[in-house]
Amino acid sequence: MPEIFLTPLVLPYFGFVLGTVFGSFLNVCAHRIPIGKSIILPSSHCPGCGTSIPWFRNIPIITWLYQKGQAGCCAFSIPLRYWLIEVSVGLVFAYFAYLYSLDLDLVSLLARLLFSWIMIVVIVIDYETMLIPDRFSVGGAVFGVLFCFTFPELNEMGFDQTWLSHFASGFNSLLGLLIGSSLLYWIGTLAHIGFGREALGEGDVKLLGCIGAFCGWKGAIFAIFGGAFLGTLLLLPLMIFQKSFNKSTENENSDKNLQWGAEVPFGPYLAIGGIVYLGGASEVIDSWFDPILWFFDNTSLLKAF
Ligand SMILES: [Zn+2]
Repeated sequence: MPEIFLTPLVLPYFGFVLGTVFGSFLNVCAHRIPIGKSIILPSSHCPGCGTSIPWFRNIPIITWLYQKGQAGCCAFSIPLRYWLIEVSVGLVFAYFAYLYSLDLDLVSLLARLLFSWIMIVVIVIDYETMLIPDRFSVGGAVFGVLFCFTFPELNEMGFDQTWLSHFASGFNSLLGLLIGSSLLYWIGTLAHIGFGREALGEGDVKLLGCIGAFCGWKGAIFAIFGGAFLGTLLLLPLMIFQKSFNKSTENENSDKNLQWGAEVPFGPYLAIGGIVYLGGASEVIDSWFDPILWFFDNTSLLKAF
């Protein structure tokens, strides 16, 4: 690759452009998958009147700005959300491209781009429908294990390229999948018994399998607790604000808003936890597990096997 493409300035720019295209495709997926439509055919058409959209009116970010959020064919106004998603995926891809220009290898870059794309699709769909499609959670989990098996360097096990390193890397990924899923399954089961109502869905358990397959068991555990922490941090002010807002306006539709104990999708927080982990936080977070590993190393707990 020519030197110019590897500079810390140019590479994030290309990452951003690529990200907006993937963000645009994400919008198509988030719109069509929950209603059971094909994501490939027919090509883009207006959600308002059904007219197919020519390519020059389908340019990520720019079209929305140029047409001021209006469809070109009818009075349909394109939600701001579409534009925000294109920008978000663009920024995430630009960030990973920046890491690549520093010291990331190509395979790790591809894994991070794919993983973050899957996570952002899940965030959007789960937030809107309270469902996580299997093709992303289960599909992502299977793909994550196969990807780690094929490229052991992802788990820093690719030094000798023997079959053993492939199996070790695949096993590491599978371990992340199983530990993540089963831990969340039991947390959900105990929460169900404790609070008397369903706290976590099957979709969350499968999603954490996918996160574990890409991030390993440490990343999966972080996604649960980091995700819960992040969720609390974001939701608490929102709930307090709405509570006082409802009081002051005596809003009769207050049951439609966020409330204490209201059902909130957990998937988006797990997904953000996964992105944060692979986005570089792993270097700090992994060391939090050292005391646990020390414990296993220095006790006879596992030596019996
Ligand atoms: Zn239209």
